[in-house]
Amino acid sequence: MSPSPAAPTHCPYCALQCGMMVGRDDNGAWAVSPRDFPTNKGGLCRKGFTAASLLDSPERLKRPLLRREKRGALEPASWEEALDFVADKLIAIRAASGPDAIGVFGGGGLTNEKAYLLGKFARFSIGTANIDYNGRFCMASAAAAGLRAFGLDRGLPFPLEDIPEASVIIIFGSNPAETMPPIMQYFEEQRRRGGRCIVVDPRRTATAKAATDHLQVTPGTDSALANGLLHVAIQRGFADKAFIAERTSGFEAVRRVVARYWPDRVERITGIPAKKIEEIAELCGRAPSLMALSGRGPEQQSHGVDNVLSFINLVLALGQSGKRNAGYGCMTGQGNGQGGREHGQKADQLPGYRRLDNVRHRAEVAAVWGIDPARLPKPGLSACELLDEAGRAIRALLVFASNIVVSAPDALALAKRLGALDLLVVSDFFLSETAEIADVVLPVAQWAEEEGTMTNLEGRVIHRRPVKPPPEGVRSDIDVMVGIAARLGDDTLGKSADNVDDEFRRATAGGAADYAGITRERIDAEDGVFWPCPDAGHPGTPRLFLDRFATPDGRARFHAVEHMEPAERPDAEYPYFLTTGRILTQYQSGAQTRRVPSLVAAEPAPFLEIHPDTAALLSIRQGDWVHAHTRRGAVTLAARLTPDIRRDTVFAPFHWSGAGAANALTNAALDPISKIPEFKVCAVALERASAPTAPASAREILHS
Ligand code: SF4
Repeated sequence: MSPSPAAPTHCPYCALQCGMMVGRDDNGAWAVSPRDFPTNKGGLCRKGFTAASLLDSPERLKRPLLRREKRGALEPASWEEALDFVADKLIAIRAASGPDAIGVFGGGGLTNEKAYLLGKFARFSIGTANIDYNGRFCMASAAAAGLRAFGLDRGLPFPLEDIPEASVIIIFGSNPAETMPPIMQYFEEQRRRGGRCIVVDPRRTATAKAATDHLQVTPGTDSALANGLLHVAIQRGFADKAFIAERTSGFEAVRRVVARYWPDRVERITGIPAKKIEEIAELCGRAPSLMALSGRGPEQQSHGVDNVLSFINLVLALGQSGKRNAGYGCMTGQGNGQGGREHGQKADQLPGYRRLDNVRHRAEVAAVWGIDPARLPKPGLSACELLDEAGRAIRALLVFASNIVVSAPDALALAKRLGALDLLVVSDFFLSETAEIADVVLPVAQWAEEEGTMTNLEGRVIHRRPVKPPPEGVRSDIDVMVGIAARLGDDTLGKSADNVDDEFRRATAGGAADYAGITRERIDAEDGVFWPCPDAGHPGTPRLFLDRFATPDGRARFHAVEHMEPAERPDAEYPYFLTTGRILTQYQSGAQTRRVPSLVAAEPAPFLEIHPDTAALLSIRQGDWVHAHTRRGAVTLAARLTPDIRRDTVFAPFHWSGAGAANALTNAALDPISKIPEFKVCAVALERASAPTAPASAREILHS
């Protein structure tokens, strides 16, 4: 086969949404080449470079699969049979238990248009309140904190090009050198210009090594550190009184709380020397421009929202928000984690970042849909709550683009819960671990086979273009929704789908996340458009809050935050902290990247990072098998000894399933506001093991 001209599109994976070209190479295989797009400037990571290899994967699902007997095998079925089976079950469940007994679970990789349609499918076609998505596991704490403090949630309130202009950057718990490597060029440029970059992380990650300073904080103590920095900054006269008076409210309560976080006390909580806290506070206080960025480290905690609010307090008190080259931002994780939560697949939200509990917002969306607002359900269960009800109040679950058996916390308990459902339907392009245990598997198109828009971590809306048609037998997620809706008696979703681009933009008009003026033509011509962009003549909004914050009075809100312990701390029985995260060569649950041979060759199996001193105490040597167990489960992982981790902490990547599934260990304790689970901190016990335990598949677990 001769090479085909490469077409411009974007990487399917993370929130940087690097621009890339996709075409056939000289051997006829699908291949990726870099594209000079403003986010990645020609850079790609290994995941992006190899993404096209999955387009012709022999593991690709091309026919629906149906489990005709509850404990039987998945067998090929026609689309008609599979969709009829799903619809018949849903109709019966809805009649017996009501529409809220049907749950819908979406993904942060769905396009904006699909996320929008999924919300309509759930709330209107099915009539259920219970829809949420896996972004709840990801950026929910930063989103909730941003809404509280600024009145708006957008990952970064400024474009990436502002990063090199910041004189000081403090990164709380993010490792972009591994999760989104091309972004490092912005931090490298900031350092070249003489800036300081401080990384706060229990691990000396690749990002920490590239920084000027590393604060190797005790897991779960981020807000104490931020309060300590603010304590010193206020004491030394760095609070920006004019900014606080003119553009904020609530400072006095914060001042009173942080007065109790003197450096010696914060040293005892965080493990960061008091002198270092004073030095960094002084640095932040004197910085002409300061950015505070957070990642999943502090966010995926049972006090994740408070953690982020404490970082926001710091930048607000120093007058480092609402101006260029400064402010707080969240390093959003999933490809469309941002857009996915703006347009209706989150339990409490409607398109345009509207709220289900707001009468005006309900009326605005109902008007676009041509229905009585009373037909819109109330806010539903958040992701973990929804999964926890599986087999109880939730009788059927429809999962789109999410591999929850690997990515959700306390994964063994979840597999059992899913086994108690009357119906589990998974829409995916590979037989993921979640698809393996489904009753119905529906094969759908991949990223390079579909058209839509995505919203990256900057709030830049980009255009995902189709490069090739899907294989024969494969449909889109939208076809799946329309097919089920029609069988449930809703013929209107098909009309919405035919014109989804236009209806989606109309549904966002007037909302906080207003996309009304963002057409695909503009995106192509302008290398993306930043929301809000209410009409064709509007230039888009790369920088938020320059004139006012998005609160009713235009002022940013301080929130007094006391440091609280994580839900679980090490004790005599479980003496170490466990923290989890991502590695360079894998993406999220690994459903895609564990099928790319070169990525698997680079890192074939999960591992446990452990400090050599800790390992010596436990007679564990490099490469030994380690049995790690928590109150929820146990895994066996190969020891990877490194001085880059704290002595009281071990780290495991969460991309794998079976015997190495880190999420068999993690704690589903939720933040009370964001409902994010505490992936980043739990207590674990360690023992040297003689051999790996046999991997248990999710199917074995649910029948055990
Ligand atoms: Fe870029 Fe992220 Fe894709 Fe890597 S995974 S190429 S950083 S979008």
